Amino acid sequence: MQNRYDDQEAQKYIDTYPDFPPEMGLRVYTSRLIGQEDDLVLHGGGNTSAKATITTLLGDEMEVIYVKGSGWDLGAIEPAGLPGLDLSYLRRLRQIDSLSDEEMVNQFRTHLLDASSPNPSIETLVHAFLPHCFIDHTHADAIVTLTNQPEAEKLLHKALGDKIGILPFIMPGFPLARAVIELVEQQPEMECLILRNHGIFTFADDAKTAYSHMIDYVSRAENFIAAKIKKKPLPIAADVAQPDTDSILPLLRGALTLQESATYQRTFHLHLRTSAEILSHINRPDAKELYGGGVLTPDHVIRTKNYPLLLDFTNLDKEAACKKYIQQAIDTYTQNYSAYFSQQVTSKAVERTQLDSLPRVILIKGLGIITVGKTVKEATICADICEHTLRAKTAAASVGKYAELEQAFIFDMEYWSLEQAKLGRAKPAPLEGKIALVTGGGGAIAVGIGRQLLAAGARVFLADIDEARLKVVTDTLAGEYGAMVRSLCMDVTNEDAVQQAFSQLIKESGGLDILVANAGIAHVDRLENLSSAAMQKVLAVNLTGTFQIIKAAIPIFRHQGHGGHIIVNSSKNVFAPGAAFGAYSASKAGAHQLGKIAALELAEIGVRVNMINADAIFDDGQVSSGLWDVVGPDRMKSRNLDPQGLKEYYRQRNLLKTEVVADHVGNGVVFFASNQTPTTGATLPIDGGIMAAFPR
Ligand SMILES: [Zn+2]
Repeated sequence: MQNRYDDQEAQKYIDTYPDFPPEMGLRVYTSRLIGQEDDLVLHGGGNTSAKATITTLLGDEMEVIYVKGSGWDLGAIEPAGLPGLDLSYLRRLRQIDSLSDEEMVNQFRTHLLDASSPNPSIETLVHAFLPHCFIDHTHADAIVTLTNQPEAEKLLHKALGDKIGILPFIMPGFPLARAVIELVEQQPEMECLILRNHGIFTFADDAKTAYSHMIDYVSRAENFIAAKIKKKPLPIAADVAQPDTDSILPLLRGALTLQESATYQRTFHLHLRTSAEILSHINRPDAKELYGGGVLTPDHVIRTKNYPLLLDFTNLDKEAACKKYIQQAIDTYTQNYSAYFSQQVTSKAVERTQLDSLPRVILIKGLGIITVGKTVKEATICADICEHTLRAKTAAASVGKYAELEQAFIFDMEYWSLEQAKLGRAKPAPLEGKIALVTGGGGAIAVGIGRQLLAAGARVFLADIDEARLKVVTDTLAGEYGAMVRSLCMDVTNEDAVQQAFSQLIKESGGLDILVANAGIAHVDRLENLSSAAMQKVLAVNLTGTFQIIKAAIPIFRHQGHGGHIIVNSSKNVFAPGAAFGAYSASKAGAHQLGKIAALELAEIGVRVNMINADAIFDDGQVSSGLWDVVGPDRMKSRNLDPQGLKEYYRQRNLLKTEVVADHVGNGVVFFASNQTPTTGATLPIDGGIMAAFPR
């Protein structure tokens, strides 16, 4: 691992924060250096601190400690992520006999320099009790690879030398802080402290030395492991055929559904990650033995649960057999998890609320890592941790034997009282964990549908044949919602293209909950002038296209087995057609009827199908309606109106004298998709009230 410290860079950081003592600039600098190394810290793991003297408003000198706050990543830390605390006071806490975690956090909060700071790290007292000015702490992969071994002490001394201290696993908090300072006082020449099954602390009175010790000791561990791997290479993975993701992933996603209450069903996002390296691990014949054990460091358990689930579809070729196998595997996993929970609460005589029993990491032979998250971010973080875990456990097998931490400690972390206190506080967004696909994704209405689905918590895939228009809409929404918005190129008139896009959707998300049939084109011609080719084209997109995507979605809904929604963006024209608009009105009427048929056929698998009949929507911000680009000029010409005049004309023709916008359609979609009423086969007019278009 490379030492990236640069004296000039360090000085720049000191100059960047003139309102703080120089220690803050240096602390930000080396924290970021540490944070950019994935092999040192991942997603909020690890923490750092610096001590300094400041002058208070009253002119008194005060010793302070700046320590990483919760919710901040070292790689992007700012002074706001390093809350300052009264150091002299914190040090005096060493005298007391015991301190509960709740009271410890209260002591931190009441001794902050800035009342608006985030909570300081739970390891703050370790940092405060140590005398050194700069302290760096990580859960480095190479270090935990050595600590999670039956013969860890011997290996650690061989790899790292004599200027190290080693502590057994102790739950972070007051007892750990006391144990650390006692050991450091016994061994004053210590440069680095190793916590078994947890990580490494390095310290010094200057930022450069503390950081350099971290890089140096982790490098020693890495080199030691590399030499062991050379000496004892592991057997090579077998070639395993990839199972059929089109069916496996929706089956899996369905088996991972939680009925949280009579009215709320939680579904999860699946994240598939694969690479030659990942397959080289999980395709090994001894994969279960190597990777079936617990986490590298206990703070991973919050993200990944302690154990992964390993699946192997090699000898299952029938879908029914796969389904049964998945269900049995999930049942066994959840039973084991519940047994672990009951056993721990009984033996510790504590009361805790059980978390859901579902796995978060699933390793599938021939395919890769599947992670499970309530949000896309959760699933992605979980996959990052899993990749490092596979690598470390593989290395551990060359070094010796991977030894997991006892479940009693894992439980303390997973069911830590401060984490438990957070449970149930945040109400999930109505569509959290849901996956939506919106066709016609490059148009104005898709902006409104996408925006409202995203605001309700769903992940949205926008599909369109016109990639340039699709990119504009995707970029518009991604500005606010990032990875929750994805795009798919799809020609709804082409069965193969539809199938390919759906396969892609499944690979990226695991399944589908809400299908919005929104692709549509217009054509203006009276029947006597309407060419057969134009008629066919409009029918192909508006009617056959709707048919193709509904047909492609049905197997996914069926595999998942947890219901779903189809919403057909039909048209006010279905009930109130217009002259010279025959191709459009007839095709939309056909799609509308198809929606009703789908409602009849899919009720038995819990899929609801509803229609939205909207009146003209011209644009959304910078995105025009492709349909109105075609229709608008004709309508303006026939009514002798300019674009503004045309909008006003449509507003004046409805009962409520209102303009219909894309977000209104989005609201309608969210209404249906959030199961607020037991409704299927219905039509919701979104037109300001037009009597001729009243459903009947
Ligand atoms: Zn730690």
